[in-house]
This record gives sequence, C-alpha cells and structure tokens, in this order.
Amino acid sequence: MIYDVAVVGCGPSGMAAAVKLKNFGLSVLLVDEQPAPGGQIWRGIERNASIMSSASLSALGADYQAGMSSVREFRAANVDYLPSTQVWQIEGDWTLFLTSAGRARRISARAVLLATGAQERPAPFAGWTLPGVMTVGAAQILMKSGDMLPKGRIWIAGSGPLPLLYATQLLKRGKSISGYLDTSPGLDFSAIGKLVGGWRNVPQLIKGIGWQWGMRRKNLLHWKVQGLAAQGNERLEHISWMENSELKSAAADVLLVHEGVVPRIHETLALGCEHRWNDAQRYLAPALSKMRETSRIGLFVAGDAGGIGGWVAAEASGEIAAIGIAARLGAISDVDGIIRQAHLRQRQARALALRPFLDAVYPPPRHDIEGDVMVCRCEEVTASTVKTAADYSGPDMNAVKAATRCGMGPCQGRQCGYTVQSIISKASGQSPEKLGFYNIRPPFKPVTLGELALMEAGNMPN
Ligand SMILES: Cc1cc2nc3c(=O)[nH]c(=O)nc-3n(C[C@H](O)[C@H](O)[C@H](O)COP(=O)(O)OP(=O)(O)OC[C@H]3O[C@@H](n4cnc5c(N)ncnc54)[C@H](O)[C@@H]3O)c2cc1C
Repeated sequence: MIYDVAVVGCGPSGMAAAVKLKNFGLSVLLVDEQPAPGGQIWRGIERNASIMSSASLSALGADYQAGMSSVREFRAANVDYLPSTQVWQIEGDWTLFLTSAGRARRISARAVLLATGAQERPAPFAGWTLPGVMTVGAAQILMKSGDMLPKGRIWIAGSGPLPLLYATQLLKRGKSISGYLDTSPGLDFSAIGKLVGGWRNVPQLIKGIGWQWGMRRKNLLHWKVQGLAAQGNERLEHISWMENSELKSAAADVLLVHEGVVPRIHETLALGCEHRWNDAQRYLAPALSKMRETSRIGLFVAGDAGGIGGWVAAEASGEIAAIGIAARLGAISDVDGIIRQAHLRQRQARALALRPFLDAVYPPPRHDIEGDVMVCRCEEVTASTVKTAADYSGPDMNAVKAATRCGMGPCQGRQCGYTVQSIISKASGQSPEKLGFYNIRPPFKPVTLGELALMEAGNMPN
C-alpha cells in the first residue's frame, strides 16, 4: 500500500493536518519520535491529564491543557499512527525510511508533510557543558514527561517567552528560584513601534507581561545581563555575569539557559529545497507557497518547521497545508482549496500578530563566542579551532566542517550549525545569509547497522 500522505510530527500542526486530510478521504500515516501525541508544547498530555494532581496540571498553564481537545480529536480520527518512530531519510519519490524498536523500515506516500517543529537555538558560553547546566527546553521536557523538577539553587538565564513560562511553571509548583537573568537587550523604540500590529493578539501580550511581573514581584529579575559564565570543578558551582557594567556572581546548583527557538531544517536542506533567511531571528526556513508547499512538488511544511509562530499559528498552518495537499492530490479543486483556507488565514494572522514585536524584543544573542568555549559537543571542537579553520578555508561552512569535524557527530550540526555560521561570518565578513548552512546528508538521526540489517519493506503500522 502507498499512503496518500505521510505526516512527520505529531505536534499541533501535524495533528491538525492529519485530521483534516483524513476528512478529505485521503489515507494518512503519521510518524513521530515521541511515544504519544502532543509535540513539544503538549508533550505527555494524555498521561499527565490522568496521573497529575489538578494543581500540578494547572501549573503547566492553560495553553498546555488546551492540547487535550486536539489530541482527543486526533485519536478519534483514527489516523494510522507510528509513535516512538524516527524518520532518518526521505527520498524524492516520497519514500520515508524509519526506525522504531530497533528495526528500520520504509514506507511510501504520494505526498509528504513535514510538521517537525522547532529546536532550541544553541548559544554556547564559558562553562555551558558543565553538569548542572542545561537548556530550559530540556528541563521542561523532564517536567512534562516525568514530572521531574530541578533541585537546589536554580538560576534561569536567557531571552524569550519559554524561560519566563518555565520559571512561572516552577513557581506555581512551589519551587523557589534563586534568580532570573534576562539576557535580552530590552525595549527600544523600534520594538515599541512593532507593538502597534500586536493589538490583534492582546491576550498573548497580557500573558507575557504577567509572567514577567511574577518574576519582578518576587525580586528575581536581573535586566540586560551579559557575559554569562558557569564555573565549577566536577559540576556547576557558581555563575557570573555582567549587569550595569558590574561583575556579579552567585552560587548555583542548576543553571537553565535558553536563547529562543529555530525551525528544524535538516529534512528540507537534505532534500535541496529553497530556503529563506529570517534576518530578525537569524535562522533559515524553507521557502513556502501560500499552501505551504516547498520548492519541491509534493513536499509540504507546517508549523514551526516553516518559521516560528507558536501553537495556534501551527494548528492553522497544518490545516492550510492539508488543504494544499488535498488540492495537489486532486481530492479537491484548487478553487475549493482557496475558499476553504480563507478563515484559517485570518486565524493564523491573528496568532502571528505579536511576532514582529517578540522578534524585536528577543533578538538572538550577538556576543562573541571565542577561545576554548566548546562549540560542537559531539566532536568536542572549540570556538578557537573553528576560527582558525575559518581563517584558512575562507567563508565556507562545509570546508570548516571537513577541517574540524564540527557538525559530523550524532546531532549532525543541529547544536553547532548557527554558532559556526556566526564565527565564520565574523572572521570573514561574509553575511550569515550568504554562508547558508552545512550540506545535510542522511541519516538525519543516528541509525545503527543492526537496524539497517533488519530493514524490511512494509507499509502498514503494527
Ligand atoms: C523544547 C521546546 C519546548 C517548547 N515548549 C513550549 C511550551 O511549553 N509552550 C508553548 O507555547 N510553546 C512551546 N514551544 C514552542 C512550540 O514548538 C510550538 O508552540 C508548537 O509546539 C509548534 O508545533 P509544531 O506542530 O510546529 O511542532 P512540535 O510541537 O514541535 O511537534 C513536532 C514533532 O515532530 C517530531 N519530530 C521532529 N523530527 C522528527 C523526525 N525526524 N522523526 C520523527 N518525529 C520527528 C518531534 O519529536 C515533535 O513531536 C516549545 C518549543 C521547544 C523547542
């Protein structure tokens, strides 16, 4: 059997798309590496709704609980669903290579929707590889998937809505935080100017102000922090930072950092799709048509993988992509497709109204990453090694990769790509947009020889 559509990713966009595609009468297979539906925002929601106390569940917030109805709708649609399954290669005839439970297999489809979401932007600094330092996203994953909370003197540092949300979630769970180090440059006139368009999404603005006010009321906020560093022998013991031109330090057991999120682009890069540079947030995203088709016919992208927008916009974009796919496969006419997606566009525009303001208030960090700061954790390559390679090989991401092995480890450059790009850009004067990204080759995710050896051709989930 060849599926009409293979959807990769079971977050808000993937689920919304799969339900709609099924309603169009198309056969759909949805593949996701997580054990249950929900994606990043609604990770573990079915389990948590059944085992967490109502206080713990409500600490996760209204947006988290809103996911329950989407997950129920997805389950009710009876879509063929492969959880705990990774996609590690996609071929241009829309053959997908998957692994689950130690076994590789391939499936075929007439069209593919990538609803693979976002990842945290890596932002290395001195001491970031010490045990005790991790990202806010990773800490939140532990909270949602295992109800695990950090212990000891907890510091949160970074910029953007996610660290504020996580800090609020911790406080609601009765945890105390030693401090919140805000690394964003703060409001300026250009950011305030962008607020004008945000009136269409006032509730989101009020929510963000509430989170920040919560930190402020408890005297946790440190503004315009720069030069964050972590120190310790075997593990994190202290942190230091610059605030108002003053060097400050504090004892710390846990430091949680976050500098925004960027779209997952490995699949679209490997498939040779055209990409565009987002200068405000300094990331690449696939170029998409109005119906969310990439430059390759039959390959669509929905949700944060096509540009960061949050879950409401992700759901709307999933439905728009489903309509685009249905039109591409001839299940509906083009005119029908245009009529059906008009109201979704309004929902999407409302959800994205605050985005220019958020992009301006929370720009990616611009500090220099230099010396023995680790850039590539997989291959243990430092900033100075990357800089030396860049000085020799000129403005070429792949030449630096070949010279240093940066980006050749298990994460395939997800953790170092933009850092290497920024170091080469500074060394050569070449713009990041022109530098682009590493050439991405399969497998996108690690796959073992044993899994390959057990590869079988099969279409049906079991
Ligand atoms: C760590 C993290 C935590 C976040 N927490 C929040 C939050 O609490 N609140 C909030 O409003 N926003 C949060 N966000 C932002 C969030 O990404 C969006 O709001 C929303 O989840 C986007 O939905 P989506 O459908 O685009 O993708 P996602 O929800 O990210 O879903 C994508 C899914 O695709 C799967 N996937 C990716 N690649 C593959 C592959 N190769 N094979 C198989 N499966 C794959 C992922 O595991 C994931 O389940 C978070 C983002 C990150 C990175």
